[in-house]
Amino acid sequence: MNALAAPPRNGELGFWVAGLADKRPSFPHFTGHDSVDVAIVGGGYTGLWAAYFAKKLEPSLSVAVFEAEQVGYGASGRNGGWLSAMPPGNRATFARAGGGLEASRALQQEFVAGVAAVLDILRAEGIDADQHKGGALVAAHTRAGLGRLVTRRDADLKYGLTDDEVHLLDRDEFQSQINISTVHGGLFYKHCARFHPAKLVYGLADTLTSMGVRIYEGSRVDSVGGKTLTLANGRVTAAKTFICTEGYSGQLLGSRTLIPVNSSMIVTKPLPEEAWQQIGWDGPQCLNDSAHTFIYAQRTSDGRIAMGGRGVPYRFGSGTGGDGATAQSTIDLISQKLRSFFPGIPFEVEHAWSGVLGVTRDWNGGVHWDPASGIGSSTGYAGHGVTSAYVGGRTLVELAFEQETERTTLPWVGYRARKWEPEPIRWLGVHAMYRLFGIADRWEERRDSRTTSLLARFGSRLAGLHE
Ligand SMILES: Cc1cc2nc3c(=O)[nH]c(=O)nc-3n(C[C@H](O)[C@H](O)[C@H](O)COP(=O)(O)OP(=O)(O)OC[C@H]3O[C@@H](n4cnc5c(N)ncnc54)[C@H](O)[C@@H]3O)c2cc1C
Repeated sequence: MNALAAPPRNGELGFWVAGLADKRPSFPHFTGHDSVDVAIVGGGYTGLWAAYFAKKLEPSLSVAVFEAEQVGYGASGRNGGWLSAMPPGNRATFARAGGGLEASRALQQEFVAGVAAVLDILRAEGIDADQHKGGALVAAHTRAGLGRLVTRRDADLKYGLTDDEVHLLDRDEFQSQINISTVHGGLFYKHCARFHPAKLVYGLADTLTSMGVRIYEGSRVDSVGGKTLTLANGRVTAAKTFICTEGYSGQLLGSRTLIPVNSSMIVTKPLPEEAWQQIGWDGPQCLNDSAHTFIYAQRTSDGRIAMGGRGVPYRFGSGTGGDGATAQSTIDLISQKLRSFFPGIPFEVEHAWSGVLGVTRDWNGGVHWDPASGIGSSTGYAGHGVTSAYVGGRTLVELAFEQETERTTLPWVGYRARKWEPEPIRWLGVHAMYRLFGIADRWEERRDSRTTSLLARFGSRLAGLHE
């Protein structure tokens, strides 16, 4: 970055939402008393997909979405814009949970199908979210990282991906797609599309409005009990309620069920054509790497690089970070990563922001439906939430309306991770895990090690991230 450049915009719900301020749909506050067939708490992708499939199933249903702030306020408006086939958790854990290998293969298959299904629906509904399916590249900067990718691909094949859907690239093959100077090789995943997160959320909200779904903003649900939702200025009776609050779920689902883990992003100003030629990233491939403290990136439709990574991983007491203001040290860290990928390219960061993922104790998500109370939830996607929100929102509707589909028997349906520890152990544990990962990355880089650091192995076991 140019030392004399103006500081980037910071927070403000991020580049995607801030950049569409004049196009943002706006919805009324809820006041009074009402009665609906389906009440949805949370106006992110999960809540919006659930509303969409409820209306598709039965157009006469009355469906209302209650959003505490504004539609897309959470991770759905702030994410990296990867629509990927990565399932929301550890396939091995899901297999061990009862259904065996076949159940996890079915989960993986549903997420492959989910990428195509989302793209099909966007096309059918006329939603333009800059979506473009160009696959995803995973770069290995160290020999240890490359070894992990070989193992990861073996697991991918075991869980049903084909050679065509995930393949290894040597250094030259990788650099012919994106010219990262330090790369040793990598993986290419076929099923991944880049998109503009806020355009997706607003496109879905507009579609829902035309389908007759009522959306309320500035309408926080304080509690859900029996068939009643209590809001600051009103009360709603609902036959069925879906809680779709992901990283913000502490209030309604319990602070030890899942925690808000922070992820931070920067976006550059548009790069000049010569820079793109040097970088060679001429397609819509998404990009990430095999470091323990990995990054994720996309080339935006208007020629910028948006890159995310870890900064402050977790705020004491499950803080959710407001509008996403990000520490300068985090901005520097991600900018430094970007410069190390593409040395000599002058980047200027235009905007930096953060958002929260919903993370369970073992990093596995779950869809839950309780017919007795008429309350369900779909949460815990960690960093793989875009396709999960589609699968989860759709599954919630199918469970609640007693539809038996290929989704309702997937192993994340009814899956419950154990509870998080109380504070301060929780804060210490998450910070320790990220410290271990950071140290492990530096150790592997310095030694050009072929094997993954024991510290990272320990951190992964601690977090349940290994397969
Ligand atoms: C920086 C970042 C990058 C990411 N990148 C990717 C990516 O590239 N690909 C990917 O697959 N996943 C990614 N994710 C994860 C993904 O964005 C999320 O998993 C997904 O958007 C979750 O959608 P959601 O609707 O479940 O939750 P959210 O989008 O978080 O929405 C929850 C909503 O509920 C509202 N709410 C909370 N409490 C209440 C209440 N009591 N009453 C009413 N409303 C309430 C909130 O205001 C919020 O709008 C990323 C996440 C972050 C933070």
